[in-house]
Amino acid sequence: MTQIASDHIEALIRHTAELARAGMTPATSSNFSVRLPNGQCLITVSGRDKGRLQAEDFMAVDGDGNALEAGRKSSAETMLHSQIYRLRPEANAVLHTHSLAQTLLSMQYAEQGRIAFTGYELQKAFHGVSSHEGTVTLPIVANAQDMTVLCSATEPLFASNAFWGYLIAGHGLYTWGRDIDEARRHLDAFEFLLNAELTKQGIRA
Ligand SMILES: [Zn+2]
Repeated sequence: MTQIASDHIEALIRHTAELARAGMTPATSSNFSVRLPNGQCLITVSGRDKGRLQAEDFMAVDGDGNALEAGRKSSAETMLHSQIYRLRPEANAVLHTHSLAQTLLSMQYAEQGRIAFTGYELQKAFHGVSSHEGTVTLPIVANAQDMTVLCSATEPLFASNAFWGYLIAGHGLYTWGRDIDEARRHLDAFEFLLNAELTKQGIRA
């Protein structure tokens, strides 16, 4: 393994342990990946406790999400990671979590197809946003166990350049960044904004 790959894995293990402690990866759910300079990706192996990941819990897949290590199975949602890397060339890390706030609000707003945040200073945490005065939109698609169906639902979202993640209803959040730290900042910002919305409604996650 190259030094870059092992540095990325070390960073992902640190972030996922923090996210697990925050209750955002319950019951071995959630998955995480990083894109390497050679176009391959390292992604979490299916079904591991995200609070206790080790280097061997990551595996290499090619740009289309095909396993490059015989006998190992990457996350069931690898196709969604590959889609983000294909349609967002600047994205080099993808974080997917299943927090309570993400789950509850994605169901509540599923019919509208989006949640819009306006007036929050924290909107500036997103790459390219410089004021609280605009609107950050978080799209929502219906959940599906068939990854082809799910990818067809998310594909049209990428026509917009001004979005940094999406929710899957009753399921969780996908977000990304130019590197792992930026993806984590986007995840933390979405989680804060979702919790703010829940709190406004008198429900605390
Ligand atoms: Zn998931």
